[in-house]
Amino acid sequence: MPKIHTEATVIGHAECLVIGGGVIGSSIAYHVAREGRSTIMLERTMPGEGASGAAAGMLAAESEEFIDSDLEQLARTSRDEFPELVRELERLSGVSVEFRTEGFVAPFRSEAEGERRWKAANMREDNQPEWWNAKELARRIPGIDRQAIGAIYRSKETQLVPVQLCRAYAGAASVLGATIWSCTHAEQLVVQNGRVCGVVTDRGFFSCDQVIIAGGLDSMNLLDQAGFHYPLYPVKGEAVAVSLKDHPLEYTIYADDIYLVPKQKNEVWIGATSLPNLYDKEVTVEGLEGLLARAAAWLPRVREASFVRTWAGLRPQAAAGRPFIGAVPGLEGVYAAVGHYRNGVLLSEATGRAMAGLLKGADAEELGISNFSSVRIKEESL
Ligand SMILES: Cc1cc2nc3c(=O)[nH]c(=O)nc-3n(C[C@H](O)[C@H](O)[C@H](O)COP(=O)(O)OP(=O)(O)OC[C@H]3O[C@@H](n4cnc5c(N)ncnc54)[C@H](O)[C@@H]3O)c2cc1C
Repeated sequence: MPKIHTEATVIGHAECLVIGGGVIGSSIAYHVAREGRSTIMLERTMPGEGASGAAAGMLAAESEEFIDSDLEQLARTSRDEFPELVRELERLSGVSVEFRTEGFVAPFRSEAEGERRWKAANMREDNQPEWWNAKELARRIPGIDRQAIGAIYRSKETQLVPVQLCRAYAGAASVLGATIWSCTHAEQLVVQNGRVCGVVTDRGFFSCDQVIIAGGLDSMNLLDQAGFHYPLYPVKGEAVAVSLKDHPLEYTIYADDIYLVPKQKNEVWIGATSLPNLYDKEVTVEGLEGLLARAAAWLPRVREASFVRTWAGLRPQAAAGRPFIGAVPGLEGVYAAVGHYRNGVLLSEATGRAMAGLLKGADAEELGISNFSSVRIKEESL
């Protein structure tokens, strides 16, 4: 059990101490500070340098397949709040997140594939997909491959630049009174009379009433310290950015085998590979070759584009298959929001907002997160 380090220097105190400055931790810090509560966020490096900085930034609540309807609903709610959230974050922080609302296009090469996609797109009443035939697709996306005979268009899907989102969350949180401690590693939870009272870091001791573990893939050690074993593993993703010549791409192309996400300066981010259990962040020639070939098969002018950069990141996937968002059992005052796998950017708004409510004592069921609680996760792991 963690001990109290009374001899350690007390660096600061807050009601709520958030560990991790990715999209999840920084969203929590923002939402908690917005409730008027004193907040500290600890980040080992800089906000957005973990998996969040590697993400493409798609808020693909309708295009993605989710493990169940609870997660899908959380994703929808989160995506739909983004326009308002972005306005508020940009106003407070002065950081642009380069939010884009042109929508996503899912092209197909055969009638059968089109029918299958159309059926899936119409599964819910609140979806309003459009069917584009080959002529419409070629008009909307000049230079699309001629073998693409149509597409499903989803106008409500949006996208942004995730590292900017982290900075905007953190910046807005600071404006609302939170303190952001970058380059500060949380090492040890400290417990007194059965409840958490602070965290020892490489800079000294922070005291608090509540701790929220949001360290992405590296959260396991802290969760284990609190007595909750929640296995996480990496799913490595490689991506590449190119700059298109002549005219920009307007819509995000969300194909079965690849996505192409338009950004500023004619850039297109192409991703991503999906390689479970790899901890390195190298980009292999094989990975890069595959991404570029699949992208050029849909948009041949990718071949004439200039290379910008390539990168890789580690998606925090949970063995339980679902994120854990809730109170950590067995240790009073400890909460966690981890395991958002390939949709952390999308889920960040709903996760941060729900966590802020939970910390104030609201009911998990009413907040829409009871299915991401430790109880549900334990039941499913049995
Ligand atoms: C190639 C790729 C593309 C992706 N595309 C998308 C996308 O389009 N849309 C989408 O929604 N998601 C996407 N994702 C997934 C998304 O990136 C993740 O789900 C999300 O970033 C997870 O956020 P996080 O805050 O939990 O983790 P992280 O971003 O990893 O943040 C955790 C932070 O905690 C810090 N930390 C850890 N331990 C400690 C400690 N002890 N003390 C202090 N700090 C600590 C780390 O330094 C890190 O900064 C993609 C991922 C990859 C790799």
